[in-house]
Amino acid sequence: VSNSLRTNNTRSAEIMARARGRFPGGVNSPVRAFRGVGGEPFVAARGKGAFVWDADGNEYIDYILSWGPLVLGHAPQVVLDALAKVMQDGTSFGMPTEREVDLADMIAARMPHLEMVRFTSSGTEAAMSIARLARAITKREYILKFEGCYHGHADAFLVRAGSGVATLGLPDSPGVPEALAKLTLTCAYNDLEAVEKIAREVPLAAIMLEPIVGNGGYIEPTAEFIPGLRRIADETGALLVFDEVMTGFRIAYGGAAERFGVTPDLTALGKVIGGGLPVAAYGGKREFMEHIAPTGPVYQAGTLSGNPLAMAGGLATLGALTREVHDGITAQTANLVQGMRDIAARHGVPFTASHSGSMWGFFFRDGVVRTFEDAKLSDVSLFKRFFHAARRRGVSLAPSAFEAAFMSSAHGPAEIAETLNRLDDALGAALAE
Ligand code: PMP
Repeated sequence: VSNSLRTNNTRSAEIMARARGRFPGGVNSPVRAFRGVGGEPFVAARGKGAFVWDADGNEYIDYILSWGPLVLGHAPQVVLDALAKVMQDGTSFGMPTEREVDLADMIAARMPHLEMVRFTSSGTEAAMSIARLARAITKREYILKFEGCYHGHADAFLVRAGSGVATLGLPDSPGVPEALAKLTLTCAYNDLEAVEKIAREVPLAAIMLEPIVGNGGYIEPTAEFIPGLRRIADETGALLVFDEVMTGFRIAYGGAAERFGVTPDLTALGKVIGGGLPVAAYGGKREFMEHIAPTGPVYQAGTLSGNPLAMAGGLATLGALTREVHDGITAQTANLVQGMRDIAARHGVPFTASHSGSMWGFFFRDGVVRTFEDAKLSDVSLFKRFFHAARRRGVSLAPSAFEAAFMSSAHGPAEIAETLNRLDDALGAALAE
């Protein structure tokens, strides 16, 4: 592992200049443009294990990991072999295939409450379909979500994370009809009292949450929060929905239901279940899922849903992710997080970091972060300097102070130790800037 500064970004800059002529901001998903940290994004050329290389040949230890899916690291041999084999038989059929059933079985073995699922190609589709299904099941239209939680970019979920509790939602993104946005209510994460008040006043179809927030930075629920949501949902007739697109097969071997001992009515999955190929899913009890066409009237479909290559990616990944492997990644994550706490303490910087399984995050502030408002009180300016200093030293962190980070089975003790060395140096440099 080389420790020289990564300052040559010529090829990345050339490619980004071309990309800006073709894509808004030069990207096909906004956060990749580095608006959260400033500066020029590096263009990925290749990945293997814990490492990515950019278009200029610079090497980084990667903690973005494609924003979560790569729980085995980049280009794991089991996934490459599975893809090479499966593609010989064709890349898409638009017909049922056995691998879809195999992957659904594998998911249900770890998350038994997912009696039935429907595969989609993105988390957005899964969350959007859950909103439709929950509304159809309950014959209600309001959805409650939490500030700082992201559930994809369907209209129902692009609602401002504003303060004020029972406030009606307003469009956060132009183009979302106000009539629709009004049906999405928001309140602060971990604020059970606010949830209780809204749920008693408004007929909610669903209470939807990230069981651990990754999209407002890494935020954990209090011990009471998720059991409390279950009780309120039961008492008021709302469905409880876990968006486990990010947390699924990361925060615990069996996901949030195992971690918190609470069973949701419906669940969205994505990321890890495709192992880096486009797969997401939603599911729950058979009686709920049978509302979906063709057994029921709620329409939802997809030309590439259950795609053979995507299913193979998921099967190979989940197959390799045994409980033992999960526990190993968890231990490495704990080591990295503790090491970062020690570094911050040595530098005398306000810092809080935490992890659950292989999902982790940190903020430059003291104290426990319980809400998105808490997260926003962290030192974002220091984060930006730290991010760039880490990048120059070959550590790839999420380019935003409000995103979780990940770990893979390819990150061994040597990579963790090297990461900590570089981050120690990076924090010193960021503080000196
Ligand atoms: N829900 C959660 C919790 C997510 O983290 C994401 C993506 N980061 C989504 C939904 C949307 O998934 P996708 O980007 O695949 O549409």
